Amino acid sequence: MLVDEFDVVVIGGGHAGIEAALASARMGVKTLMFTLNVDSIGQMSCNPAIGGIAKGIVVREIDALGGEMAKAIDTVGIQFKMLNTRKGKAVQSPRAQADKAKYREYMKSVCERQENLYIKQDEVVDIVLNSKREVVAVKTKLGIEYRTKAVVVTTGTFLNGIIHIGDRTFPAGRAWEPRSEELANFYRREGFPLLRFKTGTPARLDGRTIDFSLLERAPGDDPPPKFSFWTEPKASYWFESGKKQKDCWITYTTEKTHRIIRENLHRTALYGGKIKGIGPRYCPSIEDKIVKFPDKSRHTVFLEPEGWNTVEVYPNGLSTSLPEEIQWEMYRSIPGLEKVELIRPAYAIEYDVVPPTELFPTLETKRIKGLFHAGNFNGTTGYEEAAAQGIVAGINAALRAMGKELFYLRRDESYIGVMIDDLTTKGVAEPYRLFTSRSENRLYLRQDNAILRLAKVAHSLGLLSDEQFRLVKEIEEEIEKWKSFYKKEKRYVYLGEEAKNYTIATLFTAGYSMKDVSENLGVEIPHDSYIREEVEIQLKYEPYIERERKLNEKFRKLEDTPIPENIDYDRIPGLSSEAREKLKKIKPLTVGQASRIEGITPAAITAILIHLRRLE
Ligand SMILES: Cc1cc2nc3c(=O)[nH]c(=O)nc-3n(C[C@H](O)[C@H](O)[C@H](O)COP(=O)(O)OP(=O)(O)OC[C@H]3O[C@@H](n4cnc5c(N)ncnc54)[C@H](O)[C@@H]3O)c2cc1C
Repeated sequence: MLVDEFDVVVIGGGHAGIEAALASARMGVKTLMFTLNVDSIGQMSCNPAIGGIAKGIVVREIDALGGEMAKAIDTVGIQFKMLNTRKGKAVQSPRAQADKAKYREYMKSVCERQENLYIKQDEVVDIVLNSKREVVAVKTKLGIEYRTKAVVVTTGTFLNGIIHIGDRTFPAGRAWEPRSEELANFYRREGFPLLRFKTGTPARLDGRTIDFSLLERAPGDDPPPKFSFWTEPKASYWFESGKKQKDCWITYTTEKTHRIIRENLHRTALYGGKIKGIGPRYCPSIEDKIVKFPDKSRHTVFLEPEGWNTVEVYPNGLSTSLPEEIQWEMYRSIPGLEKVELIRPAYAIEYDVVPPTELFPTLETKRIKGLFHAGNFNGTTGYEEAAAQGIVAGINAALRAMGKELFYLRRDESYIGVMIDDLTTKGVAEPYRLFTSRSENRLYLRQDNAILRLAKVAHSLGLLSDEQFRLVKEIEEEIEKWKSFYKKEKRYVYLGEEAKNYTIATLFTAGYSMKDVSENLGVEIPHDSYIREEVEIQLKYEPYIERERKLNEKFRKLEDTPIPENIDYDRIPGLSSEAREKLKKIKPLTVGQASRIEGITPAAITAILIHLRRLE
């Protein structure tokens, strides 16, 4: 039964689904979000935190593209930190503890208030195609059909999810929430490969039973950093209501913890052979850490409060699939947790994902026009990674619905571009998460300049208003004005052994700060704190970024060389059959993307370039 028509349907109300649905609706198309449970829109399935190394930069990029995650955490955060402050501005990244319940409430309310966005609690069981294999509708569990021009699938850990706690297993999409099943039949029918991935989460502890007097305090920064370019400093709802930042706490595993785990390894779902899925190497369970690092006598545990109005505490670093009674023993072997009570047990979960090599960098599937994938369903892990893919998929689904050309972000302009290029070019052998080391443009892709890097594209997509864009342009002009002033203005100072007239720009590169040049050398500095910081960072890193850019020059030229969609790799002489197969499978959009496919040699790239030149 057909009941209604939409332009875009988003399946999922997790971090990917929210950004996809908001972006699509904000671009002016009629959008419908499906979720298995309306009350869990924006649920943080695992740790109560947003940001961190590389991830915090991505949150700022989502913000620059008009997304919601940064504003949400600024509003509901209970502790804020800038990480890596000792390592220099280029690798800094914000991180914040969230009030989990408030985060959900905020996201649900933003979705509910968004014009053009409709929400339905229902399970999508099928996607309907026309004879040209284009998306035309989705079907729900009760047999209702909604017509649509594009679909974004963001099923997270829910598709055929199985929870493991020791030798107990049961079907669920996330702690005791129902899973979805039937949608997997659509993927099988259409010939998509499905992989099984796994992830895990620690128990939630009853904070009233923790002895904090024995623990190291881990406070937030004062003043607290913020995520969104557009929010006021100290924007948190909690600060407004008079609360201070909430502390986290540090403790460590002990020899006893390790012994309990070793003795019961066979009872964990993973080592007992119950779990077949592939887990995240970079976010391992405590049993994984004990097995892989047998010489380490202790592992750090961060105790993170889940909010102001709850006693639940998240022990970061202690995810496990041990049986519940062994979990009690294991947690109680840790200083400060001797008498701890568990509110929710730890568990591991296995779920279906479709390999992201099935996608173009626009996140549209290669097999079906109008079908987009984002989030954990693409084999990634993390809220930020999910949200970043969600916004790209949502934008492109809206563009597809409007009959416009799709967009994608390049590696050299954003971490989102790095991640999507990695996913679609190399695929995933294990749950993927972002690191700064994944980028070859680390000095340029910083948290401070995300808005400057992405405002233009966001404005052209209609996700940044004219007024916002004008403000960013004014700031940019102001930055340039100060930079040229500092490149001319000189002061006679000692740098190392030598005293001479140096430009202020050179002094920044040599380590001087705005404070130094203002207080010690009497040089005028910008009033606005953002402009002040940005000018200093840009001048400090300019020579290094230039070097980085030169090294990447060749790569960038390849990136700018498009490969036509209808290219016939069989007609390119000099390609090995292995290279031909890979190129046909990945269908790279540019020569740059082709060059990053595993097994594609420089000789193969030359052959492609010669062929493209002949076609001109
Ligand atoms: C046990 C566990 C451990 C985790 N561990 C980590 C970790 O170690 N590190 C880390 O960074 N992150 C971890 N995560 C976080 C988390 O899974 C993701 O990174 C993030 O939530 C992914 O966002 P998403 O939007 O892709 O999916 P989710 O947040 O899972 O949202 C999926 C959404 O899809 C909906 N849905 C599913 N199927 C259907 C359907 N057929 N019809 C309608 N709606 C549907 C659901 O209702 C839900 O709203 C963990 C999560 C879990 C559950």
